[in-house]
Amino acid sequence: LLRLAPIVSYLNGAWAKLASFQGSLTSVKDLLRTDNKIYQKDGHIQFSGIKQAIEFRAVDFGYSTQNLVLHNITLVIKKGQTTALIGASGAGKSTLADLIPRFYDPTRGKVLIDGIDLRKFNMNSLRHKMAIVSQDTFIFNTSVRENITYGTENVDEAAVWEVARLANALEFILKLPEGFDTQLGDRGILLSGGQRQRIAIARALLRNPEILILDEATSALDSVSERLIQESLEKLSVGRTVIAIAHRLSTIVKADTVVVLEQGRIVEQGSYQELLEKRGKLWKYHQIQHEFNKAQVD
Ligand code: ADP
Ligand code: MG
Repeated sequence: LLRLAPIVSYLNGAWAKLASFQGSLTSVKDLLRTDNKIYQKDGHIQFSGIKQAIEFRAVDFGYSTQNLVLHNITLVIKKGQTTALIGASGAGKSTLADLIPRFYDPTRGKVLIDGIDLRKFNMNSLRHKMAIVSQDTFIFNTSVRENITYGTENVDEAAVWEVARLANALEFILKLPEGFDTQLGDRGILLSGGQRQRIAIARALLRNPEILILDEATSALDSVSERLIQESLEKLSVGRTVIAIAHRLSTIVKADTVVVLEQGRIVEQGSYQELLEKRGKLWKYHQIQHEFNKAQVD
């Protein structure tokens, strides 16, 4: 599969990011990312779903007050569409996505859904409608089944099998010594990166989120895993509002909107085709990718 990752690393030579923890469940992330939690007030409006759009309105954000990492972000993410965020490592893609489940609140400006500031919503009701599938999936030291059902109540067995099947995980799960009862983690079976990601996809499918945040893997998986994951992500994305931090050209081409970030600023925004015709940043990535692929073949 074509990837942008090698190109970006070729461009700035600093692709490798320190292994920062990114749980694949908001609740896990929530536990571990408590940085500015104490300043976050919960709202009282129950979030029942998105009707039109998520909107960033002139958003600045910094982890510290002196150092902004997002500058004047204005962006409309329409319901049911896929928005791809692209840009070099450190550009601010994950930070931008993290503002949607309110892991952080803007330093200035607002993030809104259907015109309502996220801070006015009850946080649990908001996060209940979202799922994150990231490159570093958190696997608990418990059974496969509990790893899939984590964060969802009253799940019947048929539903667990169904999401495992859709996530292209059923086959490998059934080959484990005790199937869905197999213990994972430190004292159990260690899964490959591709298998962990498929567990995360199954978990997200079960949560049936309206809003899906995908943080695509930058490191190469074997081509079978890659294809299986691509397929199951496509199934997972149908009918949802998707914000994809995209490294795969296939995701970027299919996205309704592509947003290019550079040093915390949106430098380009539009459909893939529009941006290519504009011959700007995306076009440049595309050109280099083309040469990269040619070099790989030669
Ligand atoms: P990307 O996802 O595009 O690689 P990030 O959003 O992770 O970029 O990072 C944007 C900037 O914010 C980088 O300079 C990064 O070092 C910094 N950053 C990311 N997370 C934190 C954090 N928890 N605390 C302080 N700085 C951070
Ligand atoms: Mg990131």
